[in-house]
Amino acid sequence: MGKTARVPRMTALLAAAAAGAIALSGALPSTAAPAPEPPQSGAQTGSAVPGDLNQAFQTAAVTYDVPREVLVGIGYAESHLDGHNGQPSQDNGYGLMHLASNPQNPTMSEAIKLTGLPVETLAKDSAANITGAAAVLASYADQAGLTGDARKDVAKWYTVVAQYSHSADAPTGRLYTDEVYRIIGAGVGSAGVQLAPKAVTPDRGAYVKVAPLGSKSASSVLAVDYPGAIWNAACTCNYRVGRTKAISTIVIHVTQGSYAGTISWFKNSAAQVSAHYVIRSSDGQVTQMVAEKDTAWHVGSENPYTVGIEHEGFVDQPSWFTDAMYRSSAAVTKNIAERRGIPKDRAHIKGHSELPNQTHTDPGPNWNWTYYMQLVNGGNPNPPTYNFTTYGSGVRVRSAPLLTASIVTTLPGPTQVFVTCQKQGDMVNAEGTSNNWWAKLRDQGGYMSNIYIADPNPKLPGVPVCP
Ligand SMILES: [Zn+2]
Repeated sequence: MGKTARVPRMTALLAAAAAGAIALSGALPSTAAPAPEPPQSGAQTGSAVPGDLNQAFQTAAVTYDVPREVLVGIGYAESHLDGHNGQPSQDNGYGLMHLASNPQNPTMSEAIKLTGLPVETLAKDSAANITGAAAVLASYADQAGLTGDARKDVAKWYTVVAQYSHSADAPTGRLYTDEVYRIIGAGVGSAGVQLAPKAVTPDRGAYVKVAPLGSKSASSVLAVDYPGAIWNAACTCNYRVGRTKAISTIVIHVTQGSYAGTISWFKNSAAQVSAHYVIRSSDGQVTQMVAEKDTAWHVGSENPYTVGIEHEGFVDQPSWFTDAMYRSSAAVTKNIAERRGIPKDRAHIKGHSELPNQTHTDPGPNWNWTYYMQLVNGGNPNPPTYNFTTYGSGVRVRSAPLLTASIVTTLPGPTQVFVTCQKQGDMVNAEGTSNNWWAKLRDQGGYMSNIYIADPNPKLPGVPVCP
């Protein structure tokens, strides 16, 4: 996956509309000049300044009577609260709430009908995207008869959230929704949005009878090639049984979508794509969907000799590339290579973009190949320390971790930064929180407050303290 960088923003969505996948009534005719849009509170690029997103979640929660926890939990599960500049996910979902338009998921067309907002605005404007998702969730809650005290109770929203995911089957719906409730339990501190951890025991309704994925059965243990994987088969329509060439190469991908959403997509007959493995960002959980003896469809002409591993996340967003995911993935790759006699080097372990005849850009520049290959080769290196993204605009980088220190440079908007170390300095108060930790940036040659780094921890995990 990971083709969004090469896809013009609206092309895929308008193509889907033309194909009847979404209602055209809210979309502009492709030949007409777009009407000027009113100012969108700085959110038109999907990278709203901190505070705006908080306000958008709050307003949508009140307007549609949907708990803010539910909205933020879904947004973090889908996108880590990043709208990706209106570019589509692999299954044609848009914005930080992933309003989708595919044969399985109609949430974009529903949001158009419910809000009256045009498709471009819902796709590109983060505040509108949150509004659209809240409207869709509210309509499902109304259908489910969720009123009164129950409507205020986060625990009671489980089946509504599962419905919002439009997962391919009930176990995948449970996988998605359990992750949203895990996030609500853990709290969120990202992109200027704070959600305090909240202990909720979800009322799973009909899903209580759905066994969580990962429950081992005799057949699932036999099905997997990697002993640590959970078996969850892709649609047989999305891969080819058998191989025409010997396996010689392992291919690293980034999903451009959530873990549960990717698994659901590979089970959807409309996808016509698949991978052997999918790995979750938060904890490195491994799902196997196609047997290695079979040919998954992940790299076009190069499918016959490759094994594909998808990693949950987005190419342009290093926050997804956690140490847990690197370590888990490296264990899978090491296992495949050793079982199959594939050399554990970069000539045989490649990124999607490095294979012939590809248009995709994944895994992209944020994937740490040096670290990954050290892990694959059995090393135990320190985790990478550069994987951070800033948020907000006009963030000042100073010569020392002090508010009086000279300004070295100013970050215009969200920026990927290499943090070499961190240090306590002046207390910074912003966005309703205080923090005296500052990050030393390698490439900017100065310090910035950790408040403006997209990580919920005041002190960044895995980053050493500056001497
Ligand atoms: Zn790929």
